[in-house]
Amino acid sequence: MRQVNLFEPHVDINAHAGGGKSPQRDMNPDAHTAVITPIGLDWSRIRILLLDMDGTLLDRHFDDTFFLEVVPEAYAARYHLDLPTARQQVLAAYKEVEGTLAWYDLAYWAQRLELDISALQNKVAHLIRPHPHVMTFLQQLRERGYPLHLVTNAHAWSLRLKLAKTPIGPCLTSTTTSHDLGHPKEDPRFWQRLRERLNFNPDQALFIDDSEPILERAAAFGIGQLLHVAKPSSALPPVHARRFLSVVGLHQVPLPWVSV
Ligand SMILES: [Mg+2]
Repeated sequence: MRQVNLFEPHVDINAHAGGGKSPQRDMNPDAHTAVITPIGLDWSRIRILLLDMDGTLLDRHFDDTFFLEVVPEAYAARYHLDLPTARQQVLAAYKEVEGTLAWYDLAYWAQRLELDISALQNKVAHLIRPHPHVMTFLQQLRERGYPLHLVTNAHAWSLRLKLAKTPIGPCLTSTTTSHDLGHPKEDPRFWQRLRERLNFNPDQALFIDDSEPILERAAAFGIGQLLHVAKPSSALPPVHARRFLSVVGLHQVPLPWVSV
């Protein structure tokens, strides 16, 4: 079966490329104080981490299974449709609001599809898990005193379930959803409001996400360092980003204070 990635909205990222800053471009090779890892992160400049949840910290296989299999199956049963017809109608509904806040809003889908979305999520909650090595990564950064802020497009229902089913919560300094701020991460206003909420210097932030279009938005806003996760789902092969430092998983991020 062809895997459809509905979680990476297709937008014209070229329109924003001029405003982006890549870590490589920003590095000063003459700076004696810079701690530059082999993959190009300058940890001497990083004071705060902004971390995506689905696909970055957690295996997106849960979300893909839920939206691409569980919801169409429930929709077919609810409306007495064959599965291909149900899937076609559900995917068309997704497409209508792709990249908007509604796309990520589980209450919207509960109402629009007339399905008990929370109960359906619980059916496949056993698929919710952190990617390998994520807990080690988070704990090492916590021990070094880095603030770790979750910034996610996930809806509150989904965030609550994922914090209950995984141990990531105690490692996090704060959690912010796009629903809290009124705009998805694809919208430049998200980043302005996030800055107001967390009161941070964008140039001193490292943002990690599995979505290139979202990384482009963060770059355009001025987030100093950006890292792409190329394997958001355990069920899919890695796809590396062209414009960003890109790792299969967070275990590939060399931390300068950890000897290998
Ligand atoms: Mg993600």
